[in-house]
Amino acid sequence: MLQQVNGHSSGSDAQGRESLREDLQEFLGGEVPLHQLDDLTKVNPVTLETVLRCLQARYTADTFYTNAGCTLVALNPFKPVPQLYSPELMREYHAAPQPQKLKPHIFTVGEQTYRNVRSLIEPVNQSIVVSGESGAGKTWTSRCLMKFYAVVAASPTSWESHKIAERIEQRILNSNPVMEAFGNACTLRNNNSSRFGKFIQLQLNSLLVPRDHQMTGAAIQTYLLEKTRVACQDSTERNFHIFYQICKGASADERLQWHLPEGAAFSWLPNPERTLEEDCFEVTREAMLHLGIDAPTQNNIFQALAGLLHLGNIRFADSGDEAQPCRPMDDGAVRTSALLLRLPEDPLLETLRIRTIRAGRQQQVFRKPCSQAECDTRRDCLAKLVYARLFDWLVSVINSSVCADPASWTTFIGLLDVYGFESFPHNSLEQLCINYANEKLQQHFVAHYLRAQQEEYAVEGLEWSFVNYQDNQTCLDLIEGSPISICSLINEECRLNRPSSAAQLQTRIESALAGSPCLGHNKLSPEPSFVVLHYAGSVRYHTVGLVEKNKDPIPPELTRLLQQSQDTLLKVLFPADPEEKSQEEPSGQSRAPVLTVVSKFKASLEQLLQVLQATTPHYIRCIKPNSQGRAQALHREEVLNQLEACGLVETIHISAAGFPIRVSHRTFVERYASLRRLHPRAPPDPHSPSPDEGHSAPWALVDFAVSRLRISFGSLCPQRGTGQLEVV
Ligand code: ATP
Ligand code: MG
Repeated sequence: MLQQVNGHSSGSDAQGRESLREDLQEFLGGEVPLHQLDDLTKVNPVTLETVLRCLQARYTADTFYTNAGCTLVALNPFKPVPQLYSPELMREYHAAPQPQKLKPHIFTVGEQTYRNVRSLIEPVNQSIVVSGESGAGKTWTSRCLMKFYAVVAASPTSWESHKIAERIEQRILNSNPVMEAFGNACTLRNNNSSRFGKFIQLQLNSLLVPRDHQMTGAAIQTYLLEKTRVACQDSTERNFHIFYQICKGASADERLQWHLPEGAAFSWLPNPERTLEEDCFEVTREAMLHLGIDAPTQNNIFQALAGLLHLGNIRFADSGDEAQPCRPMDDGAVRTSALLLRLPEDPLLETLRIRTIRAGRQQQVFRKPCSQAECDTRRDCLAKLVYARLFDWLVSVINSSVCADPASWTTFIGLLDVYGFESFPHNSLEQLCINYANEKLQQHFVAHYLRAQQEEYAVEGLEWSFVNYQDNQTCLDLIEGSPISICSLINEECRLNRPSSAAQLQTRIESALAGSPCLGHNKLSPEPSFVVLHYAGSVRYHTVGLVEKNKDPIPPELTRLLQQSQDTLLKVLFPADPEEKSQEEPSGQSRAPVLTVVSKFKASLEQLLQVLQATTPHYIRCIKPNSQGRAQALHREEVLNQLEACGLVETIHISAAGFPIRVSHRTFVERYASLRRLHPRAPPDPHSPSPDEGHSAPWALVDFAVSRLRISFGSLCPQRGTGQLEVV
């Protein structure tokens, strides 16, 4: 049975729903089978259990998309379903007079956003926020939507312009294999896991032919690349795909040039025997070429990457004397890596082994040999520095290849593919940032949809019982608020640059923020940590190494070394300083203020939210049916956890109880003014006891229809009190 709208709705709403249910039953000849319920607002009662049962029934019937009011739930099929993503189906959704009447699909969301940007009345930039845990299908969904727009937003009629359009669309699509080769890796949870967040603005042009928008370009913004993976991988995971691609796909000549003999062992290349679909070097090269990265530049890039692999093979042994630097255990690795990165060999070795410190009144320069652990840290830092700059440079090259001239686009559709909420046995700064981003996005969702909807009803005086939603502002205050929050305390430790233990940081956080209801009770834990009660669950963050990670220190000698490279690419990535500033590492408190990882991340997040807030958002929640990536297997517990983490039941309650169709007064009048001509309304009777009783029969019918459609006159017609629907 269909739900009674949560017990909150007005009598006419409930009647309307009941009649609708009867119609549906009549139409289907009985009770609607669960797998045919294509909107979760129709399950009764709306609970985690019933929502799960419906999704399970649909999954078993190979139905992967389901509406949940304003959100689309996407279950990962974990098997190819080509007919579901064919260009023919894209065109079908595009051509449909009412795509929302077709089966729920990402193309419905794609088409709706496309229609909204093309609206002649209110063209508004749109965004699609794709969320879900690792392996749930966010990147797949975003890629599919990009293909959808490449099909439906192409097609100017002239052959010449068609070619141009094809080129730009193809180039935009080509950004995917390149970004994924350099930014994705095989993890425990996903063979093709994105190790960065991505927001792509698809730019559309309406200058020439209104209502015939074409995609004229795109702009890509990335967030928080997991650069530590270059130098440190779990034994069960892998480095970024590109390293495996060059090792497997290089020609014989390239192997010689890049010093990558078949079967060579690299300590930064775990699990090379695993062959993945993503290991296709040719696809990456071809895509880079289309994006304007020519063969010599590509050669430079791959040679530098091979240099990093050899750098990872450098091992140090303690000299046994604190005054003497560590010894490299394999001179060959140092030599080859210096050769490939086109760095002078001796300075490379010296930089890895000796720290320069300025101290004293005269700021004298001291040279201090590093311990073996410090040498390893410096080596890893060098690799991370090169890789992160290379990644940013690639994004900027892609942007310059696909970004349209500002004069040639008017509106955009933004696609956001960000890492979902994370909670592991061991959580550190990366998880704090990721979960912070998710809190922000959840707040955006709550603010934009749930709160706005309820407030709007209140303003319009509609009969409505408020649904309690979980506002996560308290949690955000705990993480980012001012003057004191977790971020500010971690940043302060970086700024003070004082030796403080992980236990001290825990104590500071717990005492300074004790009043926050979102700071969890920290039961005895063997390691120093603190607990945050996120909207999606509680997470324990370990404080060991947190401050150091937040500082992300780059010894200035490393940058200076890289500036000496003779390689054309490294010269671009590390341009020489215009002023020859003294770059020895200062000691003590004389350091310049550090721009920490958290503060940079916070700034980029704020920028993103500003963009999102200026758009009409749409939400796709991807769900991973099981953690093994198996087709036709839905694990109840795993799915329940995800449904809980994204607050889906709450969303359904509000969508179910709300008015699903909202049209501005002006649009309504434009669309339905003709009705008035067909059924002129009786003039208001000043003696009528109640304004609503002045309806003529045809208008009563229209009102009845409107009530069944659950459209509110209050939101449409300011003159409702006079019983008139006037054309303004
Ligand atoms: P991460 O956060 O780790 O980047 P993700 O949410 O982006 O994860 P995807 O890489 O998009 O996850 O999807 C994981 C895998 O699931 C894909 O490589 C693909 O094999 C499969 N998959 C996802 N969506 C679909 C789909 N609609 N049809 C078929 N297979 C899919
Ligand atoms: Mg991904």
